[in-house]
Amino acid sequence: MEFKSMKIPAWQMDTANQARGRIFERGLRALPDDVKDPQACFLCGGALTAKDTPQAVCERCNVTYQRLDPAAAREGTGYTMSVIFGLALNALLAHMAPTPEEIKARRLAPFAKGKGR
Ligand SMILES: [Zn+2]
Repeated sequence: MEFKSMKIPAWQMDTANQARGRIFERGLRALPDDVKDPQACFLCGGALTAKDTPQAVCERCNVTYQRLDPAAAREGTGYTMSVIFGLALNALLAHMAPTPEEIKARRLAPFAKGKGR
């Protein structure tokens, strides 16, 4: 696995620690299933391929999602800060899913372009 580093404000790290603590307290049941283990890409609906146990990659747009290995994701164990950030990104992307109007517009776009509609 490749790693990159960045500085983040202390308050964001503190908040991430609080989120991790909350997951410890409430357990994985508190998280939506699609946040814990996305089954399709939120952005394009593409199939996800498990690249590595903690990652799944969209075959269409190449966005990578956090996955929780069920064997390693027992309540209260194994939540590194990396996993917390990955779950946060899953939740953010889930809210970025296209609206039905956007999906319809995308489906019609090739016809509109090619047929002059
Ligand atoms: Zn995608």
